[in-house]
Amino acid sequence: MPQVPQEILDALTRVDMPTVSNIHEASETIDVDGLKIPVHSCECLVLGSGAAGLRAAVEAKRAGVDVVVASMSLYGGTSACSGSDKQTLHTAGTSNNGDNFKKLAHDIGSGGCMDQDTAYIEAIGSLGAFAGLQYLGLPLPQDRFGAVLRYQTDHDEVGRATSCGPRTSRLMVKVLAEEAVRLNIPFLRKCEGIEILKDKSADGERIAGVLLIDREQEANEYGLSIMLATCVVLATGGPGELYRDSVYPKHCYGSLGMAVEAGVEVCNLTESQFGIGTRRTEFPWNLSGTYVQVLPYIYSTDDEGNEYNFLADYYRTTQELVSNVFRKGYQWPFHATRMADYNSSLVDLAIFIESQKGRTVLMDFNRNPLAVPDDQEFSLDRLDDDVATYLKNNEALQELPIQRLDRMNPLAIELYKMHGHDLRTDPLPFNVSNQHMNGGIAVDSWNHSSLNGCYAVGEVAGTHGVTRPGGAALNAGQVGGMRCAQHIAQVDRSNAPTISAVEAQIKHAVTYVKQLADNAEGHDVAAVRDEIQARMSDKAGFICMIDDVPDALAAAQQLRSAVLEKSFSINKSNRVADAFRWRHLSLVSEAVLMAMDHYIKQGGGSRGARAYCSANGTVAPQARSCDLSAYSYVEEKDEHKSHKLVLQFDGDSFSINEAAIRDHEDPAIIFFEKNWSHYLTGGIYNDDFKHQ
Ligand SMILES: Cc1cc2nc3c(=O)[nH]c(=O)nc-3n(C[C@H](O)[C@H](O)[C@H](O)COP(=O)(O)OP(=O)(O)OC[C@H]3O[C@@H](n4cnc5c(N)ncnc54)[C@H](O)[C@@H]3O)c2cc1C
Repeated sequence: MPQVPQEILDALTRVDMPTVSNIHEASETIDVDGLKIPVHSCECLVLGSGAAGLRAAVEAKRAGVDVVVASMSLYGGTSACSGSDKQTLHTAGTSNNGDNFKKLAHDIGSGGCMDQDTAYIEAIGSLGAFAGLQYLGLPLPQDRFGAVLRYQTDHDEVGRATSCGPRTSRLMVKVLAEEAVRLNIPFLRKCEGIEILKDKSADGERIAGVLLIDREQEANEYGLSIMLATCVVLATGGPGELYRDSVYPKHCYGSLGMAVEAGVEVCNLTESQFGIGTRRTEFPWNLSGTYVQVLPYIYSTDDEGNEYNFLADYYRTTQELVSNVFRKGYQWPFHATRMADYNSSLVDLAIFIESQKGRTVLMDFNRNPLAVPDDQEFSLDRLDDDVATYLKNNEALQELPIQRLDRMNPLAIELYKMHGHDLRTDPLPFNVSNQHMNGGIAVDSWNHSSLNGCYAVGEVAGTHGVTRPGGAALNAGQVGGMRCAQHIAQVDRSNAPTISAVEAQIKHAVTYVKQLADNAEGHDVAAVRDEIQARMSDKAGFICMIDDVPDALAAAQQLRSAVLEKSFSINKSNRVADAFRWRHLSLVSEAVLMAMDHYIKQGGGSRGARAYCSANGTVAPQARSCDLSAYSYVEEKDEHKSHKLVLQFDGDSFSINEAAIRDHEDPAIIFFEKNWSHYLTGGIYNDDFKHQ
């Protein structure tokens, strides 16, 4: 294997982003209770400039739509700032003989609760999504035949992932932003959506735009601005601030709560991903793939500096211990059932228990794992077959983990170095954190939500089921972006919304904003944040004690009511966005707990990345030398895989219902002559349409 020169590594880790200078101009300024508020308008507003939003924007623009991108932080969010390093796709190279769309769709949705048409659409769409990125210059690795290099990842038995290194999603944002600049798409670069504007006078309720806080305009002290738009694409990423223990970058608030507040239907909120990563207080990053496949020594320390080889209390032999650490490379998300039978999620449980003791858990790349007492020392000659084969195939049988990492993935070392941590010298503290929201805004097969004209793509869309293969999030965002743009391009956009349709809502919001300053009774933002984040991490994390959920839900409901009633006390006009963010997240927190409570009451059990533990649990994980009976968990029932829990807020309380997942007709009944006309006449854009 040739040594990769430093400048190539630098180009893949230190990714400079293009400058965006086409700023959208307001068409008028209105006066609301003495505040001058700029009003913008366009056919389609894309809210958020992550990989999903930018894809939607460039595809819509190419299709002739007048599109504007408004983003809280142009290169903020998960795609640009976190370690999204892989995308799942249909490739010629998969299994060395290509892939099968139906099989890929099956695997995407195999955890249950995922609409089957969406899974098939993501499978088919992965081809175009991927080709478009290659066309824009994304440096995806190939062999000399042009087949994309691929590897095995989470929930993937075939090897469908590919990667441009740890900054894959940032590179995606870069090439898409360059294309947006080339297409001259206008932007609002520091502009946060705070309320969905609705036109209730129209023929049925529909979206009319979004109320924004734009930090680049000075017409009023708060930055309040209005965007009127016929279509709005919410592409604001996941609610990363919901949990204290979170591996999202900072300031990921998203717009899920804003959508909930507007009465938009949301689904599958019970489903999230949790896994090992470095902490948000330092540099949030997933420790998957080669980080664990090089077999670092994992240990903990207490306040006195004592060191514990704690995994040795859980696994029975050194070989079993290290082989399960290795498997976290492609079984990265915690999975309840893998706690049993000494499988790889027992590592996460062990880390959880260690953290509960107040200890710090670390990964050391300069030491090989220590032995399980009374068993043999670690040796590269004593590994499970899959582990030994992988290391041998990658010529990574060097003596120390850091040398193996240098051999297999030097970018992994480079990246931490860039963030001030030298893996060659210092052990890395880490824990198990919340990483992804699988649920979100309920959408149809064109990413259209329950609110007419409002679309959702990327992580804010609730398109994933209980599990998702690694890389499926980025793929879903790309495919969703393409699909919604195609749909918007054929919508009648001639009837632009008017300011009069949303006047009352704007007046109400202005009153709310103005009151924040003299609201002595109002809540403190930091206190509300701490309460929500602690409750979510402690009561709704990957280890969930069933008996705790009803009280957690009651407390979340109480907080949300109190926040709606008394609002916040905020004295600085440039901080008013906080009131909206935490009002919205108080709703999201209640919605997640409500969905969990409902699921538990229906007899729901452990699935995906959450173990529901109880004295009535039917499976007790076992360990070599400690008692794990407190973590006995309730098992999932198959019947729960076939529906999504859909929630809707009516301004006062949530309703919840179980909606059957959508299936789809067998593609074998679709033929060119029979079905061309449905494309030409637009029949395919009607979500109720089925091929006969
Ligand atoms: C550590 C980590 C590793 C991951 N690894 C992978 C991986 O390997 N493969 C994979 O497929 N997925 C991975 N994921 C998940 C994946 O990165 C995200 O799901 C995906 O990047 C989300 O893209 P997005 O465009 O929907 O949102 P984001 O990239 O988060 O972008 C959201 C955008 O919206 C803006 N925004 C937010 N709120 C508002 C608002 N109210 N108004 C206006 N703008 C707003 C933000 O500033 C940002 O520009 C990972 C996630 C994490 C945290």
